[in-house]
Amino acid sequence: MALAEITTRIAAAEQAAGRAAGSVTLIAVSKVQPGPRVQAVLDQGHRVFGENYVQEAAFKWPAWRAKYPGVKLHMIGPLQTNKAKVAVDLFDAIHTVDRPSVAERLARLADARGASPDLFIQVNTGEEAQKAGILPGQADDFIAACRGMFLPVVGLMCIPPEDEDAAPHFRMLAEIAARNGLSGLSMGMSADFETAIAHGATHIRVGSAIFGDRAPR
Ligand SMILES: *Cc1c(COP(=O)(O)O)cnc(C)c1O
Repeated sequence: MALAEITTRIAAAEQAAGRAAGSVTLIAVSKVQPGPRVQAVLDQGHRVFGENYVQEAAFKWPAWRAKYPGVKLHMIGPLQTNKAKVAVDLFDAIHTVDRPSVAERLARLADARGASPDLFIQVNTGEEAQKAGILPGQADDFIAACRGMFLPVVGLMCIPPEDEDAAPHFRMLAEIAARNGLSGLSMGMSADFETAIAHGATHIRVGSAIFGDRAPR
């Protein structure tokens, strides 16, 4: 039920923003959710999911993938270089490329495999000390460096500060993407995905609004 409500709200937000129907990809964030809740969303036909933890995803998803063809998995949590190899084998997209060491590791893996997941660069738009992401002032240089390594960068991702209006952060991310010729914008969560769609989000990451509250990990 919750999934249908979210897809209806996405369609309305696309229309209100004058955007094409279906231009926003809904990533259903299934981290730490009980299996039956995820299975229910798979049974309703949804196929795009987001996970934060490499080990949890590697444990859960092979069986579901075998049962439900067409699943696309997006890595949306911080990526450690020592988990990068497992991550590139498991995920179709990684949203959290946030520093040179991770980019270099992904580039070596892409060379060795002859393929790479689609990559988003995470930008720390709020310049929060505890949050991952490249600082806005360093984003242009980092995007260029990633391209120089032939990484398939498709867009940018941000997580705005919890206690602030998200709109200025979404606007900043869209500006950085536009001036760098990037079309992907991964922004917007349960509380603010309609605002994100109004600011051009192409990928929204919605967890609790679909699955219900998460138990503490
Ligand atoms: C958990 C998480 C989400 C989903 O958050 P909800 O508020 O449950 O929609 C989205 N993006 C990231 C990066 C997350 O870690």
